[in-house]
Amino acid sequence: MIILFIGPPGAGKGTQAAQLAQKISVPHIATGDILRDAVKESSTLGLKAQGFMERGALVPDNEIIDLIKKRIIRSDCNNGFILDGFPRTLAQAQALGDMINQTDKQVDKVVNLEVPDSILIERLSGRRVCRQCRANYHVMNAPSKANGRCDKCSGELYQRNDDQVEVIKERLKVYKDQTVPLLDFYRTQKKLLDIRGESSITRTFRSLVETIGLA
Ligand code: AMP
Repeated sequence: MIILFIGPPGAGKGTQAAQLAQKISVPHIATGDILRDAVKESSTLGLKAQGFMERGALVPDNEIIDLIKKRIIRSDCNNGFILDGFPRTLAQAQALGDMINQTDKQVDKVVNLEVPDSILIERLSGRRVCRQCRANYHVMNAPSKANGRCDKCSGELYQRNDDQVEVIKERLKVYKDQTVPLLDFYRTQKKLLDIRGESSITRTFRSLVETIGLA
């Protein structure tokens, strides 16, 4: 099964996509995570991507398309995969369609995780992430038990550079300008599933699984 997650930053795509990937036993591929690793390693891709990411802009399509092309041909994707944060532009969506058309597979479902802006800003500005296992916390709504440390692996919690309020606003603007047009692209193909993402992780996941037809 090939499932795509679209939704504004802070909607909970990463959390929901990871849980769904586990449930259906396919890899969860998050372009944001791959890029952050590349930045950490100072690889060629990381050095190219860093400036765009820090100001909340999108990394150029050719870099991201190339990255996805190389990732989805790996053997762990033979039975499908979940893409989280890709595609984010029409050019990326078209390139993905071309890649998949060369196989006997298709994009099965596209999840549109919807959350109002006021909640997104509150979620993102209070978000803390574990450097080691990437678990997410929130300073008010879901704090870790040990101050500044991950409950699961004791890794250090940090605030992403792009989770500063000014950058968050830019990311939301970029989402509306460049990614929202994808919703119609996939709605026309009858693949889009609108899921409300403002309630708890558990309730959102239940509604996601039911809507996909996996309950
Ligand atoms: P995310 O973790 O999905 O919020 O992504 C963090 C940042 O990585 C974004 O603000 C972009 O700068 C970059 N990024 C992630 N995915 C893409 C993509 N599909 N196209 C372009 N840039 C991306």
